[in-house]
Amino acid sequence: MGSTPILQTDIAANLRQVASAMVAALNAADRSGDKIDLVAVSKTHPAERVRLALESGHQLFGENRVQEAGAKWPALKEEFPQARLHLIGPLQTNKVRGVLPLFDVIETVDRPKLARSLAAEMSRQGRRPICFVQVNTGEEAQKAGVLPGEADAFIEQCRGDLELPIAGLMCIPPVNEEPAMHFALLAKIAARNGLSRLSMGMSHDFETAIEFGATEVRVGTAIFGPRGP
Ligand SMILES: *Cc1c(COP(=O)(O)O)cnc(C)c1O
Repeated sequence: MGSTPILQTDIAANLRQVASAMVAALNAADRSGDKIDLVAVSKTHPAERVRLALESGHQLFGENRVQEAGAKWPALKEEFPQARLHLIGPLQTNKVRGVLPLFDVIETVDRPKLARSLAAEMSRQGRRPICFVQVNTGEEAQKAGVLPGEADAFIEQCRGDLELPIAGLMCIPPVNEEPAMHFALLAKIAARNGLSRLSMGMSHDFETAIEFGATEVRVGTAIFGPRGP
């Protein structure tokens, strides 16, 4: 059996621990009735390690690189047909065609060109994964996402003309800032646009995100351990 059972126990134990921290955060926020999704971020971790999470019963995962996901996930999805995959990293328009069959949710819709490309390819393929609009709440030059001041118009364009299935918003707060104000801003933009889902919160701040209304958290390190350099 080698070391596999130990690793599996690790990941299963980590998943349980994160799940119970999520329940505690929901209770603390007076949201005990809410059910929220745990997206296990498996980027950089090899398929064997991801398989351990799948074998422990977890079904929802996130990857940030299209190419890496394309190498890892078709076989895993064949083995575990219940598995669901979120794209949480940047999407180039020339990758849209290959992304639609593999991902169940695309969290990083952030510019008109990509939105148009997604709409066209969805019509062509007849496959319409749920989409989130990524908002650059910290207005960081190097970060993807629509600017907060342009979010309403972009959301309207996506839902109106392009008829994209936009379900919610996603953000990645700046690393050196208190995340709470970014979560609050994302929740405010979602509320005024009638969007119910909020993807926010990672290993170090998912409890705060839950306090501010997260409906899904994206947790990597706390489940799979540290990533390589
Ligand atoms: C890597 C990543 C995460 C997970 O980060 P951890 O700190 O390992 O939990 C969440 N969201 C996005 C967009 C990521 O790229």
